[in-house]
Amino acid sequence: MRLSVAIDGPAGAGKSTIAKLIAKKFDLMYINTGAMYRAVTLTALINNISSKDTEALCNLIDTMDMNFKNDRLILNGKDIEDEITHPNISKNVSEFAALPEVRQRLVKLQQDMSKQYDVIMDGRDIGTVVLKSSPFKFFLTASPSERAKRRYIELTNKGLSVEYEDILKDILKRDHLDTTRDLDPLKKAEDAIEIDTTGLNIDGVVNKISQYIKI
Ligand code: C5P
Repeated sequence: MRLSVAIDGPAGAGKSTIAKLIAKKFDLMYINTGAMYRAVTLTALINNISSKDTEALCNLIDTMDMNFKNDRLILNGKDIEDEITHPNISKNVSEFAALPEVRQRLVKLQQDMSKQYDVIMDGRDIGTVVLKSSPFKFFLTASPSERAKRRYIELTNKGLSVEYEDILKDILKRDHLDTTRDLDPLKKAEDAIEIDTTGLNIDGVVNKISQYIKI
């Protein structure tokens, strides 16, 4: 059986930073499922497809070949990591991610990847849906202000001009949409280990998670 590690939590809780390091340590493929929802959002916006036109969206997803190389999402052969982290995508992604038709397709792709490779996946429904039977599940949290601060630093380091208050507002809005949607809302799996990363350094979290992963 393939090895799988599930990491869930709200935006900015440190999931991707931690998951990349754990992936290196245990030789796993890192699958950033948020990037896949972002890719659908980006492609829909480029093609002027609204979240209400589910048929067009489904057809669109069927043309999207997504895989990961060096922790980055490759869509139809093109690295789109920079485009999908743009604040405009963050603002719109939860609306598309709430659609059952979209989730059904992306969950299937993610589960197929987990059958092909040893993986660490991060997202919102990994421990509860995508990798429900994974023996290693973690739920990362941090205060909203700490999460907004981390995102602010990440985006300004990339050279984007953003306001802290806008990021905090976006994070709170996404938390609300992601936790209250009907299908597969963000929640801790009963058997997940919860880690509050507020004030913790990255190595501390990586070491804590590593202690639980027995290969
Ligand atoms: O992880 P990230 O913040 O990039 O995710 C972007 C959005 O994609 C989330 O706010 C959520 O709406 C959606 N998402 C999801 N299920 C996942 C991963 C992300 O609904 N497994």
